Amino acid sequence: MVIAVYPGTFDPLTCGHTDIIDRAAALVDKLTVGIYENPTKQPLFPVEQRVGFVEEAVTGLPNVQVRAFKGLTVDFIHQIGGRVMIRGLRANSDFEREFEMALMNRKLAPDIELLCLMTSSQYQFLSSSLIKEVAKLGGCLEGMVPDHVAFALKQKFSMSGEVAIGKGKM
Ligand code: ADP
Repeated sequence: MVIAVYPGTFDPLTCGHTDIIDRAAALVDKLTVGIYENPTKQPLFPVEQRVGFVEEAVTGLPNVQVRAFKGLTVDFIHQIGGRVMIRGLRANSDFEREFEMALMNRKLAPDIELLCLMTSSQYQFLSSSLIKEVAKLGGCLEGMVPDHVAFALKQKFSMSGEVAIGKGKM
């Protein structure tokens, strides 16, 4: 049985992430999406909400579960009983970073294999940070994040009073 973990910050979940989740879930027997609590990064959404975003997106995928975690990703993968780490790759910049992390993780946990899936072309330029910028300025996020995430972003920025005068729907 192949048990895999797809770790990330998911602040927030984008359609680039859900594409990787769908494709990874079709490859492995069990997939856990691991959400870093990541206190150093000051995420926009608290970890419970980031977990909720993914849970809502994976209701149709019976072999996918969602868990928050702290500490080393490889330790979390061991706790789950996994042997495979899934990551998504966009442009060259992702490759450099993933390669560096992969070599460190291999030192820490040689039993865990990394499986990188190439982004689908329509999500090549999609990142959570860009999504937050666009949402803050009131731009349309259709097709870039699941509807429930677009709704939460809209609420977040309208509550903070930061959203620009509404252009387009989210
Ligand atoms: P992290 O802080 O670990 O980079 P992210 O939530 O930004 O967390 O990303 C989690 C994983 O998803 C990473 O492997 C990242 O490269 C991948 N990813 C992010 N956006 C996309 C996308 N648009 N297409 C494919 N993979 C992506």
